[in-house]
Amino acid sequence: MDSPPTNPPHLVVCPSAGIGHLTPFLRLASMLAAASTSFDSCRITLVIIRPTLSSAEANQINTFLCTHPHVNTSEFQTLPCEHSSDGPNTNDPFLLQYDAISRSAHLLVHHLSTLSPPPSAVFSDLMFASGINKPLTDLGILNYTIITSSARFFSFMATLPYQRGKRGDIVEIPGLSPILGDDIPPIFSNPDHIFTRLIETNCKHLHEAKGIVINTFDFFEPESISALQNGKVLASLPPIFPIGPLIPFGSKIGSNKISWLNNQPSKSVLFVSFGSRTAMSKDQIKELAEGLDRSEMRFLWVIKTTVVDKEDKEELRDLLGEAFLDNTKERGLVVKDWVNQEEVLAHSAIGGFLTHCGWNSVMEAAQRGVPLLAWPLHGDQRVNAGLVEKAGLGIWERSWGWGGDKLVKGGVIAKKIKEMMTTENPRNSAGKVGEEATKAWEIDGSSRKSFETLIEKSRRKM
Ligand code: UDP
Ligand code: UDP
Repeated sequence: MDSPPTNPPHLVVCPSAGIGHLTPFLRLASMLAAASTSFDSCRITLVIIRPTLSSAEANQINTFLCTHPHVNTSEFQTLPCEHSSDGPNTNDPFLLQYDAISRSAHLLVHHLSTLSPPPSAVFSDLMFASGINKPLTDLGILNYTIITSSARFFSFMATLPYQRGKRGDIVEIPGLSPILGDDIPPIFSNPDHIFTRLIETNCKHLHEAKGIVINTFDFFEPESISALQNGKVLASLPPIFPIGPLIPFGSKIGSNKISWLNNQPSKSVLFVSFGSRTAMSKDQIKELAEGLDRSEMRFLWVIKTTVVDKEDKEELRDLLGEAFLDNTKERGLVVKDWVNQEEVLAHSAIGGFLTHCGWNSVMEAAQRGVPLLAWPLHGDQRVNAGLVEKAGLGIWERSWGWGGDKLVKGGVIAKKIKEMMTTENPRNSAGKVGEEATKAWEIDGSSRKSFETLIEKSRRKM
């Protein structure tokens, strides 16, 4: 007798809020879709989490769907954000949305269970872990938690529920060199802060996931990856899959700024950008302008004055002044709109990147071997900057402070920019990082092997 027909594998990708979390999920969905062409009729679904906060997110989703017509979509509406006095203690719209996402996780379980055919595997953001890891396992659906930060910062977050009261000048994590207390955002000392609560609540459920997928690679983070994989950080963690740098999916949004780069000499331009949601103070922006002016380097600078892009109404001339724009018009371009960073970093005219060290930016620079001048400001960025230094991808001036607590003067910035753009290292050592990132995806490369194992496992039934 014939055995009953089985459903083809159905892989479902569930991001959370903000470009820093959305982009790696779109890349993963694209990589899964590309891999699925090598096996029969696998179905890929992207869950679109509504509402989206920024125009950038809405645009990225649209461009992804246009370029990936075979990926299915399923819209999921989160519960509303809570602003009440006994609710979350923050005004940060992204944190409020993380909170709403985390509170909506039980609804997502129901949503996923009604998809047809039923999902065989779900790849979901850490913010869903407490609400979906166990229920999905009970439903016989494999669930992989995706980490959008470094393996080192993840190790800190994973052990946070067990660190209470133990933190001081240094944070000791088994298997890792100690993290300086100064490199951890102060919010993590406050157990009632919404972000601390969200991380602790969700990390307590990591052991219920089938695996943890991280956008990093062996060469870049050997210590943390090995400590996580050997169970030293936390014995209860499931298997760890380092599959970075995630492969860009070829978004074309913001490509129009690239033509200016075509007329600049090779490796001559400093790219300056602090990610999708980091707004510097106006005073700091003026000092940075002075630094760029005095450095005499060519530059492409993406400015943000608000956390959410839709609210940015500032005029560049008012912000920077006529004199700066006139002085630098032959060698600099300042823009306020979205530029296609992955394309900028791949351009031959780029010789360096002044960055806040958001983890996606670090991995994108690593992929291209572009040297960094690290200026971390929030969240995981100081820990990431330490990794950048250690791997040889760039330099970091620790005395520049944190979270905008110091005004870094233009002259100091100019000196550091010159150092990074004109000295042999980090240029040569960054080039080596780029070679290693390429190797990680070659046949038998570490990330490629890890991704192939992940695909193999996620296609199987539990
Ligand atoms: N990005 C971009 N163009 C911009 C600003 C950001 O393409 O003008 C992309 C960047 O390439 C990265 C992501 O947005 O993939 C930002 O993520 P990251 O983790 O670096 O920083 P965050 O925005 O989360 O602080
Ligand atoms: N944060 C911030 N501005 C930013 C990025 C982060 O104030 O541009 C703060 C955020 O409000 C939170 C903490 O840093 O208090 C960690 O958030 P983050 O977004 O870095 O978490 P991740 O994206 O790494 O998960």
